[in-house]
Amino acid sequence: MPEIAIIGAGFIGLASAAALMRDGHRVTLFDPAGVGQGASFGNAGTFAHYACIPVNNPSVFRDLPRFLLSNESPFRLRWTYLPHLAPWLVRFMMSSLPRRYEASAGALAALLDRAHDGYALLLEDPQLARFVRPRECLYLYSSAASFDAAQATLALRRKLGVAFDVLDGAAIRALEPSLAPIFERGVLFSNSWHFSDPQRFLQTLYEQLGAQGLKLERVAVDGIEPDAQGAKLSAGGVTRQFSHVVVATGARSAQFARQCGDVVPLDTERGYHVRFPGAQQLISRPVGWAERGFYMTPMADGLRVAGTVELAGFGDTKNRSLLDLLTFSSRRALPALDAPDSSWLGFRPTLPDGLPVLARSRASAHVIYAFGHQHLGVTLAGVSGRIVADLIAQRAPPLDLSPYAATRF
Ligand SMILES: Cc1cc2nc3c(=O)[nH]c(=O)nc-3n(C[C@H](O)[C@H](O)[C@H](O)COP(=O)(O)OP(=O)(O)OC[C@H]3O[C@@H](n4cnc5c(N)ncnc54)[C@H](O)[C@@H]3O)c2cc1C
Repeated sequence: MPEIAIIGAGFIGLASAAALMRDGHRVTLFDPAGVGQGASFGNAGTFAHYACIPVNNPSVFRDLPRFLLSNESPFRLRWTYLPHLAPWLVRFMMSSLPRRYEASAGALAALLDRAHDGYALLLEDPQLARFVRPRECLYLYSSAASFDAAQATLALRRKLGVAFDVLDGAAIRALEPSLAPIFERGVLFSNSWHFSDPQRFLQTLYEQLGAQGLKLERVAVDGIEPDAQGAKLSAGGVTRQFSHVVVATGARSAQFARQCGDVVPLDTERGYHVRFPGAQQLISRPVGWAERGFYMTPMADGLRVAGTVELAGFGDTKNRSLLDLLTFSSRRALPALDAPDSSWLGFRPTLPDGLPVLARSRASAHVIYAFGHQHLGVTLAGVSGRIVADLIAQRAPPLDLSPYAATRF
C-alpha cells in the first residue's frame, strides 16, 4: 500500500496522522525533536473555539503605538528584526482593516465551529479523554475601559455564534476565590475546555497510533520534490518516495511551500510560559487577563502562565522582561503564587491574515499543507487533521477551503 509522510509531529501532524490512519493509510512521521515539541509543547492548552477574533483586528491601529512603548505591554517587537519583518507587518496591518479583518474572523469562525467535531472521534478514547478538563475558560478585564473597548469584538463573536456570559467582579470572585479583587469584568465562554498536559496527550496519541503501525523518524527533512508518483522526500542524506507528503512543520513550513511552488508570508509570533509548581489548585479553569495577554492554566504539573507576543524571529534567546511580566502579572492576579521554577519559549506559526493554510500545493495535489495555526493550533488540530485526510481521499471537506489556500497571498 502507498505510504504517506507527515513532516512535523506537533498537534497538527499527529491529528493528521490519526485521521489518515483512520482512512487506512500507512503513515510515517518525520521530526528530529520527537512528539509534541515545537509550539505544541508549552502552550496554554485551551480549547478556544470562541477565539475567532484574529490578532489582526482594527484595535491594532489604536493599541500598537502604546504596546510598543510600554514596559507592561505583552506585545513586543525587536527593532533589529524589523527590516526582515517589514513585508509581513505591512500585510498584517492591511489585514487589520475592518473589511479584511471581518472576513478573517468569519473564516476563522467557520473552522472553529467544526473544532469540536474535529476532536470527537479522538476523544471517544478514554485514554485520550482523560487529558480533557471540561471547565469553561474565563477571560478577565482589569479595567472597565478595556472591557468597553472590547465591546465591538464581543459583539462580533456573538454574531458569529460564540456563546458566553458576562460576569461582574463579585461573580468572578465567587467562581475563582483565589483571584485578587482587581478584575472589573469577565467573560465565561460556554463549552470551552483545556488539556491538563498537551504534550502527554500527544505522546499518548502517538503511542496508540504506534501500536497500529505509525512510524516516527527522528530526522529533519531537507526537501520535498513532487513527481508523477507523489513526492520524494530527502532527510538525513536519504531520499524516499511517498504517495503523499503533508507539511505540518508549524512556523518552519515556508521553506517546504517554496519547494512546491508557493510563496507564503509565514513568520512567527514568539510566546512564553512560566510554570508555578504545585499551584494548579489555586484556580479551577484557564483564566486569561486581557490587558496582559496571557492565560493561567491549571496543568497536571503546576500552574502554567502562557502568552505574550514577540515579533523577533527564531533566535533562542528569551526576552527576560516578558518572562518577568508573566511572573509579576500572574502574582498580581493570584497573590498566593510563589516563584516559577521553569520557563519556555515557543514559536507560533502566523500568517498576516491570521488564517492557517489548509490546501494542496500549487505544484502537486500530492503535497498537502497544514500549517499557520497561530494562537489556535491546539484547538484546530482535530478539524485540520480531518481536512488533510479529506484532501488526500479526494472527499468533499466539511467547509469551503478557499480562505485557507496557499495561493491567497
Ligand atoms: C505561549 C503559547 C500559548 C498558546 N496557547 C494556545 C492555546 O491555549 N490554545 C490553542 O489552540 N493554541 C495555543 N497556542 C498555539 C499552538 O501551540 C500552535 O498553534 C500549535 O502548537 C502549532 O502546532 P503545529 O503542529 O502546527 O506546530 P509545532 O507544534 O511547532 O510542530 C512543528 C514540528 O515540526 C518540526 N519540524 C520543523 N522543521 C522540521 C523539519 N525540517 N523536518 C522535520 N520536522 C520539522 C518541529 O520540530 C516541530 O515539532 C499557543 C502557542 C504559544 C506559543
